[in-house]
Amino acid sequence: MESITLSNSGISSSRIGLGTWAIGGWMWGGTDEAQAIATIRSALDRGISLIDTAPIYGFGTSESIVGKALSTPALRQQAVIATKAGLEWSSGKPRRDSRPARLRQELEDSLRRLRTDYIDLYQIHWPDPLVPIEDVAAELARMHRDGKIRAIGVSNFDPLQMAAFRAAAPLHTVQPPYNLFERGIDADVLPYAAGSGLTVLAYGALCRGLLSGRITTDTQFEGDDLRRADPKFADAWLRSRYLEAVRALDALAHERYGRDVLSLAVRWVLDRGPTVALWGARRPDQLDAVAGALGWTLDAETMKDIDAILRRELETPVGPEFMAPPQRAAA
Ligand code: NAP
Repeated sequence: MESITLSNSGISSSRIGLGTWAIGGWMWGGTDEAQAIATIRSALDRGISLIDTAPIYGFGTSESIVGKALSTPALRQQAVIATKAGLEWSSGKPRRDSRPARLRQELEDSLRRLRTDYIDLYQIHWPDPLVPIEDVAAELARMHRDGKIRAIGVSNFDPLQMAAFRAAAPLHTVQPPYNLFERGIDADVLPYAAGSGLTVLAYGALCRGLLSGRITTDTQFEGDDLRRADPKFADAWLRSRYLEAVRALDALAHERYGRDVLSLAVRWVLDRGPTVALWGARRPDQLDAVAGALGWTLDAETMKDIDAILRRELETPVGPEFMAPPQRAAA
């Protein structure tokens, strides 16, 4: 496994992190607890130390499963637990809520579900436009001083929001969407993070499985699976365009490195900056491919050829905005 220190926090993390949104079941067509626990332990066995979760993933289910999987002191110590705060779901749907009192309550709830007395990395899940960023930052700074959280992160923040946050608290990581097909942060967040010494936790590194090379025009998604609402999967024409791009990238990966598109996609994220690639998995066998992304790098010519393929196949790429939760109604 390759490793990285999360900014100046002193916390060493694997460069591939396990994403546990699907393990929560909600928006992923359900969960299987035994498989999920086996997946988390298999990740640790493979050297993946960072486990990314959130209260909203299954409305507590993902955190509870992570807590169960890491319930011995040795496993807990091996892991870097990254969780989040700032979304509430009292109506059954997520809404942004980073009011300090809620953040304090969320931390206690997460510690209980995760069966631990500290969080390694505590992240604000989405900016809440109804709460001043300095107030949110000051609350996390207090938790940090109290030793309840070891490092501080934000997710889905832009550089201006991060600058406001950093005026009131230390900031170690930012977690934006980032993969070969969703490259919005190339223009702002990635250079800002690189220039400010922040580590980037790239979410959706496989573009929700599209970059695995296993999705076809016929792949169906069941129940509440978010890919039924994701334009890249739901629109037949768009899906076929994206699958063409996957085929071209897979051919390039084979020709240059004797590897497949999944390895290329994760390697690309790792080679773009001070990044950790979050890999969503819910079965241990989905992690068999992890080794293929490690121990090599993409050369400059291949980087250029990848850009050319993306320009050619996807004239107007579709972003991940469909996932953004709404804000609360103003009081
Ligand atoms: P992802 O990592 O791009 O894709 C995960 C999906 O890819 C899996 O559920 C699986 O789908 C498929 N997959 C994984 N390994 C595979 C393999 N070897 N072969 C074939 N398919 C494979 O998407 P993600 O889970 O949305 O993102 C990763 C993590 O980032 C999340 O779990 C979460 O921790 C974090 N995240 C954060 C935010 C945020 O707002 N901060 C938003 C989204 C995600 P199936 O199981 O259906 O086969």
